[in-house]
Amino acid sequence: MYSYAKQNLECEKCRKHLTPAEILSKSVYFARPLSILHTACPHCAAKLEVEVKDDRLTIGGIDGFPGPCFIALSTETVAGLSISPAEQGSVTITLAGQTFKVGTSPANVQLNKAATAGRTIASRLKWSSYMNPRIQNLKAFLGAIVGGITIDFLIGGTSASFVGNLGVVSLIAGFALLLFGAPHSNPRTAMIGWGALGLTVGIFTPVIVLLMLYAG
Ligand SMILES: [Zn+2]
Repeated sequence: MYSYAKQNLECEKCRKHLTPAEILSKSVYFARPLSILHTACPHCAAKLEVEVKDDRLTIGGIDGFPGPCFIALSTETVAGLSISPAEQGSVTITLAGQTFKVGTSPANVQLNKAATAGRTIASRLKWSSYMNPRIQNLKAFLGAIVGGITIDFLIGGTSASFVGNLGVVSLIAGFALLLFGAPHSNPRTAMIGWGALGLTVGIFTPVIVLLMLYAG
């Protein structure tokens, strides 16, 4: 039987040798009546179909024509291999004292896919919540520049020294918040810090522009 197949188990894609425990630990589901374990290569994640029969694991593929049969690619006898009778939608496959519980329905595949999709969405949400503080910082910075310019035009003419001092104080406050604050534990600290720097830029930009105009 299967004398034409390779006599040790290997992934049909990456050709790495696989142990019975590796094959069983990646199980997705087990399908009767052909007694096929749907699993994956632990090295390259290729989908593998493994026949579990008698004392033997065989990696291969189901050929559906004219009637379903299993084409063996590599095979190995496994001491102590056994499958429990199906119960509650799962079987227990045992080898050398290790047991592996495997579902007997392709529905498990759908559940696994849903779980993977859920993780993908979760990681995207995590990314957007990571991005969000940066956008907030930028908004605070740009908003404060506009605020600084507005302050210049509103009270710069009557109280230039106050506005100048405000610019210096907000510069110091901004640097202090960004350098000594903990923006990682509290995003608001960084936002206020960027806002303070923006205020300084807003306050001094018109002054610099005016100086350039007059000095130039
Ligand atoms: Zn592989």
